Amino acid sequence: MTEPLIFELSSPGRKAYSLPALDVPEVPLTELIPEPYLRKTPAQLPELSEPDVVRHFTHLSKLNYSIDSGFYPLGSCTMKYNPKINEVAVSQPGWKDIHPLQAQSTVQGALRLMVELQELLAAISGMDAFTLQPAAGAHGELTGLFIIQAYHRARGEMRDQIIAPNSSHGTNPASAAMIGAQLVTVGTDERGRVNIEELRSLVNERTAALMLTNPSTLGLFEEDVVEMADIVHRAGGLMYYDGANMNAIMGVARPGDMGFDVVHLNLHKTFTTPHGGGGPGAGPVGVKQFLAGYLPVPVPTRRDGVYILDADRPESIGKVRSFYGNFGMLVRAFTYIRRMGSDGLGQVSRDAVLAANYVRARLNDLYPQAYPGTNMHEVVLSGRGLREHGVRTLDLAKRLMDYGFHSPTVYFPLIVDEALMIEPTETENKDTLDAFVDAMRAIAAEAEVNPEVVTSAPHSAPVGRLDEARAARKPNLRWRPGGDQEPAQVPPAGEEKPLGV
Ligand SMILES: *Cc1c(COP(=O)(O)O)cnc(C)c1O
Repeated sequence: MTEPLIFELSSPGRKAYSLPALDVPEVPLTELIPEPYLRKTPAQLPELSEPDVVRHFTHLSKLNYSIDSGFYPLGSCTMKYNPKINEVAVSQPGWKDIHPLQAQSTVQGALRLMVELQELLAAISGMDAFTLQPAAGAHGELTGLFIIQAYHRARGEMRDQIIAPNSSHGTNPASAAMIGAQLVTVGTDERGRVNIEELRSLVNERTAALMLTNPSTLGLFEEDVVEMADIVHRAGGLMYYDGANMNAIMGVARPGDMGFDVVHLNLHKTFTTPHGGGGPGAGPVGVKQFLAGYLPVPVPTRRDGVYILDADRPESIGKVRSFYGNFGMLVRAFTYIRRMGSDGLGQVSRDAVLAANYVRARLNDLYPQAYPGTNMHEVVLSGRGLREHGVRTLDLAKRLMDYGFHSPTVYFPLIVDEALMIEPTETENKDTLDAFVDAMRAIAAEAEVNPEVVTSAPHSAPVGRLDEARAARKPNLRWRPGGDQEPAQVPPAGEEKPLGV
């Protein structure tokens, strides 16, 4: 790393503040904080001046790749530009300086924004009621499945199976496991669509729901979705829509009209709120009217001209998060939707689909499409052609960094050999798309004549190849005084694992 740890920059006695002399009587600490909670030795904190701190974090921020620094075609993740007008809106004191425990009469505007956002999301997705509580897409899935489980239980039915396609996002099977359901996987046909005959044979009285992503994670539209909904509904099951990515159909088609009963949306994907460094996301969940009573409490509602938080919902699954959701994200998404209007949102989808098809058309001679045909907002290609030169898709991903691009998602969906999942989004212009395509083509040429330059990439990044599996499973982020740190990095394990989703 080119930047030392903040502890290494520390120098005893350096401070970023100065306080005036104490001009009130000094009270013993134990009068303020009970003895057992007082620490015996001072915390070992770094000591720095204000400019030292600012420079340290500014240096670190420059090591990061972000949507504000370049093209970020990470499929499924929808890394689209975050409009700066969202930040202007959310920095208004009436939004940013309120507290969740304030009296409801003093935050009528905030409650009104939540009620109106619920209504806007319902209109966009074709659902009847929404909750804004879940803090991420996966959290929305969990909330939606709790609602489905509560519905079946209220009817005295013990349905314990969740069906999901083998192309589904990893959070789908994980959410099924978290509610204690059994996962049943349905296969993909030769066109890359859900195998509908297999689905028919899997649906029965144990089916709680089919979880479907449409367009699928292969970037393909499931044309038979209405028939699938019919199959599931006839057997008494419900339809769950993984709407993390509405970028292909927003303003054009609605899951509520396709037969879905429950959806989650990711505000940090389609609706331009930042993903953050694992920071606040938002995964609102929408339901059809017959499930509205199960939504988490309290529900922001308008009653007799006043906005209230309605906690009197006897069938509710309860709270899924402290307070009402990530409010700042709600303000940003609301700003985006109101700024675009319904025509604007439809144009977003059309442009996103056009961009992804343009990239496909310019690349699929070298990187064949997994299931050929017109795609939606993302396209899944295969890097298998590079293998004869000893170059893997992971190498291509690393080499793209040297060309100044973030990698697409790789090795996902799991059913595609050497998968490369590219989602350009509507916010990129043709010049950027061309530059990315040129880089992808240049790397394919390098693989033929000089594969080592690709397999040893990146050459320009502050660190080389990290062991991603170890970083995820055994993170060692703690600095210990005295320097007995664990060894930093080990060479890559070379396993195939999805990156980016
Ligand atoms: C991103 C994504 C999710 C999960 O959303 P998180 O906010 O990352 O938890 C679920 N399904 C699909 C298809 C996604 O792309």
